[in-house]
Amino acid sequence: MKTKQLNILSFDIEEWYHFDIFSSEETWLDYPPRIDEYLPRILDILDKHQTKATFFCLGWIARTYPDVLKRIQQRGHELACHSDKHFFVREMTPESFDEDLRVSKDSIEQVTGEKITSFRAPAFSISEDSLWAFEVLAKNGIENDCSIFPTTRSFGGFPSFGEATPAILNYKGHQLREFPISTGKLLGKQLVFGGGGYFRLFPYWYIKKEMKKLDYNMTYLHMRDFDYEQPRFNHLSAMRKFKSYYGIKGAYPKFEKMLRDFNWMDLSQAIESIDWNTIRTIELK
Ligand SMILES: [Zn+2]
Repeated sequence: MKTKQLNILSFDIEEWYHFDIFSSEETWLDYPPRIDEYLPRILDILDKHQTKATFFCLGWIARTYPDVLKRIQQRGHELACHSDKHFFVREMTPESFDEDLRVSKDSIEQVTGEKITSFRAPAFSISEDSLWAFEVLAKNGIENDCSIFPTTRSFGGFPSFGEATPAILNYKGHQLREFPISTGKLLGKQLVFGGGGYFRLFPYWYIKKEMKKLDYNMTYLHMRDFDYEQPRFNHLSAMRKFKSYYGIKGAYPKFEKMLRDFNWMDLSQAIESIDWNTIRTIELK
């Protein structure tokens, strides 16, 4: 393992139904809650490995299940913002994103009593077409962003970001530290191993081999990645079912091995450990 490897452990705290096709808020509370099925186990194993993580939470979760955030905070982990209702930034206006962000930050801060300074957009949805989002983030006190997917994907992505390592973003005089999702390569294609579908799809030996090659790994794990018992929607396309549900049973054992094989830290620890004078600045126009 690289001795100076920067490995950031992060989770997105949302419900199993918080993905794009179930965006109607009115029905959310009709579904059974699952957010707490895996969280206690995750918090225990993080303690066991003396590892701190960053938890990007929805403002909606903070208002609906404040106890979830309180317990994460009480165990010494860092809380951050993952928008209010999981709407995609690239589908919002600067005004509606500003409103969503303010409500979300305020909801989380009311539960924790601490200022929120880090953000991750739902589904890495800040693309090259929605640079205005960085201005909205900076104006709302966000200093660290984790929303960039530094390659192309089915929608959006940010291919001009270049190498998937931390950088300083400069947009209209506003500066943010950017921690993109980390990517590895397979057959010349950039892939993400640290969370969601690819984390569940690839065998652990492969994920470990790829993570070992990188100087920087950033995860984005969800409780639903581990939750085999979650309700399943039958009207999804075959591809969508595959993406959403493949490999759930093996995900927790993989996660345990990942904790054992690598040293992980939260975002604050990463910020402290970086010599920012050596980090590139990306001018966004
Ligand atoms: Zn999310």
